Amino acid sequence: MPKRKRLRVKGIVQGVGFRPFVFRLAHNLNLKGFVRNTSAGVDIEIEGTESNIKKFSQLLIAKKPPPARIDAVSETYIPLKKEKKFIIKASRISRGFTQISPDIATCKDCIQEMNDPRDRRYRFPFINCTNCGPRYSIILNTPYDRKKTTMQKFRMCPDCAREFADVTDRRFHAQPDCCPVCGPHFTLYGINQKIIAVEDPVSETARLLRKGKIIAIKGIGGFHIVCDATNCTAVKKLRRLKGRPTKPFAIMARSGDLKKIVFLNNKEREFLNSPIAPIILLRKKNRIICEAVAPNNPYLGVMLPYTPVHHLLLEKIPYLIMTSANIQDEPIIKTENGVVTKLKDIVSFYLGHNRSIENRADDSIGFHLPGYGFSIIRRSRGYAPIPVELPFSVRPTLAVGPYLKNTFTLANKKDAYISPHIGDLDNLETLNFFKEMIKKYKRWFKIKPGIIGYDLHPDYLSTKIARQMPGKRIGVQHHIAHIVSCMAENKINDAVIGIAYDGTGFGLDKKIWGGEFFIGDIKNQRRVAHLEYLPLPGGETSIRKPYRIAIAYVYKLLNKTIKISNHTETEIIKKMIDNDRNLVYTSSMGRLFDCVSALLGITKEITYEAEAAINLEYTARKGIRAHYEYEFKDRDEITIDIAKILEGIIKDLENNVDKEIISAKFHNTVVKFTLEMVKKLSRIYYMKKVCLSGGVFQNRYLLKQIIKTLGNQGFDVYIHRKLPTNDGCISYGQAIIANIKAE
Ligand code: ZN
Ligand code: ZN
Ligand code: FE
Repeated sequence: MPKRKRLRVKGIVQGVGFRPFVFRLAHNLNLKGFVRNTSAGVDIEIEGTESNIKKFSQLLIAKKPPPARIDAVSETYIPLKKEKKFIIKASRISRGFTQISPDIATCKDCIQEMNDPRDRRYRFPFINCTNCGPRYSIILNTPYDRKKTTMQKFRMCPDCAREFADVTDRRFHAQPDCCPVCGPHFTLYGINQKIIAVEDPVSETARLLRKGKIIAIKGIGGFHIVCDATNCTAVKKLRRLKGRPTKPFAIMARSGDLKKIVFLNNKEREFLNSPIAPIILLRKKNRIICEAVAPNNPYLGVMLPYTPVHHLLLEKIPYLIMTSANIQDEPIIKTENGVVTKLKDIVSFYLGHNRSIENRADDSIGFHLPGYGFSIIRRSRGYAPIPVELPFSVRPTLAVGPYLKNTFTLANKKDAYISPHIGDLDNLETLNFFKEMIKKYKRWFKIKPGIIGYDLHPDYLSTKIARQMPGKRIGVQHHIAHIVSCMAENKINDAVIGIAYDGTGFGLDKKIWGGEFFIGDIKNQRRVAHLEYLPLPGGETSIRKPYRIAIAYVYKLLNKTIKISNHTETEIIKKMIDNDRNLVYTSSMGRLFDCVSALLGITKEITYEAEAAINLEYTARKGIRAHYEYEFKDRDEITIDIAKILEGIIKDLENNVDKEIISAKFHNTVVKFTLEMVKKLSRIYYMKKVCLSGGVFQNRYLLKQIIKTLGNQGFDVYIHRKLPTNDGCISYGQAIIANIKAE
């Protein structure tokens, strides 16, 4: 008895080779019917034997194309239609909108063709298919279609057109399909804009890199600045020219070469090889790579080649620094013009091409956390613009995000479209990028926000812009956004203990928060405990000079002077504190890490965000159990007082205890008081679930220890899974809270 079934598939199922896959699957199982794209996803109807229909349902999920993501399949039996064949039907798009796929790393089949001298795309640096290639970065408008991408100006040759129309071909409806006859091409230029006339500009680029040149290379979501990672002269020169003394650079290498420089397990290999092809932080193995790539850092940020041109380059030079092409904190450069004007003093050549990048996407970054999976630090290429699910249906909302590591969220119903990493909103270029992407997101996803969520910090540019937007404007406390974001990602509806260990966030009492404990459910968060308030001399500018924080904290708490700066500066800070003038009070955990890092003489001044805290983490010796004393005081809220911690550290310093041990003891102290506070709050409020959020949880020593200790005591610990624990998660939390408050 034949049957007929309708399957409605939701997820990332368009522009990723899903329909040809369905076609082949139905064909192999002798099923009749059709497949078509709809506004919601893909609709399939299949008719045939019951057992084959069952097999189809199983294989649909098990064998889906690698870049596809299936979120839900609803299946219903319907009356027979007795068709003779299986076909791909024209799309039925009602609102003119379908999900946009992120950019996808070059697939194995394409690499094989590119390396095959008999293939017509032999060594063609733009090879792609329905399973791989650019998507998000070339889109001008929705629905996704070649005419609405920056491939519009390339007319397909007859060979490509044939593949494009052939349902059995791997390039069926591959919108960026092209070949050496009809596609884009690379050109190598001197920074003076003169074309370097060579037959193979990619090989010439590799040759120049081997000679130690620094070159800008056009990728998927922007240009990279590239040089030989084993050439220390080149690396140091790049550091000097870019004005970036210590912040680590990422490395790109092929997997065979990668194994030689970092330790990696199977999970990590899987993430590296995934269609996202992110940068992963892995432990360094030896000294093949120049130390200046990531100085005093046990980790290297590494990625695999993810575009054809990367593969071609790495054949000739195994280890490349690939860092986003920009100056200072500006967004990644996406045009040849941008390279010429902004990078003229940094690179001597640039390898560009005539397909323009419409939408920027930096490389995504993360690390593997055993038991949890891939923990994201920067969510951009390979993710944007996949929506993250919301815990409940919301009205059209724009949440503008914070100041550092800005992302915004445009939300409607149960979808939160989180922007790619925008950056720090402190310069005109980044601000323009922010505005440009909001405009594009509204157009692509057809959302007209009536609710605007923003951070309470009055000085943030995002806040100032939000306050001028039409709609219902709702300010959201930074750390409540952190915690709610973590809760929503983990779909937690009941009340939790929320811990926000963070750098900076404007508090409800107008002080600077960052070491806070909350209790409550998603609708109602209340702060119940925090690190004691301590003075930042000269306000938030002292963040760049952690030694000033150390002087201030020690003087305030212990009435002592430490020799860490010159006499005059120390006296000025003491006077500020004595007179309670020009101070901002903070409960920030990030600042406490800064203070300790400076006290130990590890990092007195920083050149990038959180540098002092990061170096303190890397100093900590493993396997130390000792800790320092601390005190809880019951005031309106409970405070964690740190005088005894600083006292203990100074005593250890006087006794010449190793910094590695002091750092470990300090970390252990934070773990210990965190556990004690959680136990205390759990006894008062009867809660067993704990949510962690905030930039300080990027500290793996701390994160692993806190997860382990709380877990051992029977608490359920939740961390971010889909978004970064840093401020990259803020806009998502803002969107949710703004909706609740707008009711
Ligand atoms: Zn491919
Ligand atoms: Zn062609
Ligand atoms: Fe934050």
